[in-house]
Amino acid sequence: MITEILQKDEFTKADLLQLLKVEGQDLDLLFAKSNEIKKKYVGNKVYLRGLIEFSNVCLKNCYYCGIRQSNESVSRFNVKDDDILAMVQFAYENNYASLALQSGEIENPTFALRVENLLKKISSLSNNTLGVTLSCGEQSKETYQRWFDAGARRYLLRIETSSPELYQKLHPSDTLHSFTRRLECLKNLQSIGYQTGTGVMIGLPFQSIENLADDLLFMKRFDIDMCGMGPYILHRETPLAKYENLLLPDKERLKLSLKMIAILRILMKDINIASTTALQSLCVDAREKAVEIGANVLMPNITPGTYRNDYNLYERKPKTSLQFEGKEEKITTQKFGTVPIGYGQCGDAPHFFNRKKTSV
Ligand code: SAH
Ligand code: SF4
Repeated sequence: MITEILQKDEFTKADLLQLLKVEGQDLDLLFAKSNEIKKKYVGNKVYLRGLIEFSNVCLKNCYYCGIRQSNESVSRFNVKDDDILAMVQFAYENNYASLALQSGEIENPTFALRVENLLKKISSLSNNTLGVTLSCGEQSKETYQRWFDAGARRYLLRIETSSPELYQKLHPSDTLHSFTRRLECLKNLQSIGYQTGTGVMIGLPFQSIENLADDLLFMKRFDIDMCGMGPYILHRETPLAKYENLLLPDKERLKLSLKMIAILRILMKDINIASTTALQSLCVDAREKAVEIGANVLMPNITPGTYRNDYNLYERKPKTSLQFEGKEEKITTQKFGTVPIGYGQCGDAPHFFNRKKTSV
């Protein structure tokens, strides 16, 4: 049964539902298959993106997020450009080959210009060799284009859930939190030529297993190049916290998140899939497990230490745990779990190039 599904090339929603429900030996089979596909299509490697969370100022009020605008207990920061560039230098010298810049969402000309200038400085500091991923939320097409022209090549904008109904339950009903706009932004990113990434939260209150199967089909249909998805983790100072009783226990939510990663790898063989920080909040070595079953990107947090505690999207956000997370010393670790680290390789998603070839 499961072996039959695992041999398929095309998957129906019923297949995906069945895979999402597997347990015991079948789960081992699923993970073995996803690992085999990972090795064949993207190699037995994990690529690094030095993650810099450069500002927690956000104008939005997503119900799940700890740095939402209405949370007054957050002390807001903006890392100075020079401090960001020092961390860029660290990543460059230590052969990370790639960076991710993430922030709260601000859509205004000052912010657009700031990021544009920052990208230009990063480009000249690294002789245009560092692959830069941005994750700064929804912006106009013109801003996305300017950032692309200034050197950004990848963009991560999670759809959060592919169900417009569930999306509405997780966000205020206003124009700042529109599912349609978020989708429009994703399309714009793709049409400009970014390697386009999206993702969802897993184990949200009100989320069904059908929603998750639909999320997988959404990513396939949208033909994404990269995915960053992870478990939803409660933050007490948010409106969604009152639904704590609807959450799966940590262990189950973690298992579901790992299944999502494995199934996505089988569904979209040559994309990049991140082993996200939120996984680690549920289990100390969950990120290692994720790269052993299908993920191939790791985002070590290199945000300067003084700011790190104020970027709490969720509770239990891990502090530095890896040798290469934000320490200014020579990095010598060669493997993450059992998987070799791809130092000096910027690790583009093969899917991006394969997609272009087939669409010509
Ligand atoms: N502001 C930008 C990028 C920063 S937020 C944006 O929203 O796109 C990055 C991601 O953090 C979000 O996409 C969301 O999926 C995730 N996130 C926020 N709150 C979370 C929570 N409580 N648990 C798990 N992930 C969360
Ligand atoms: Fe802001 Fe992103 Fe958090 Fe929403 S998820 S409140 S946009 S930082």
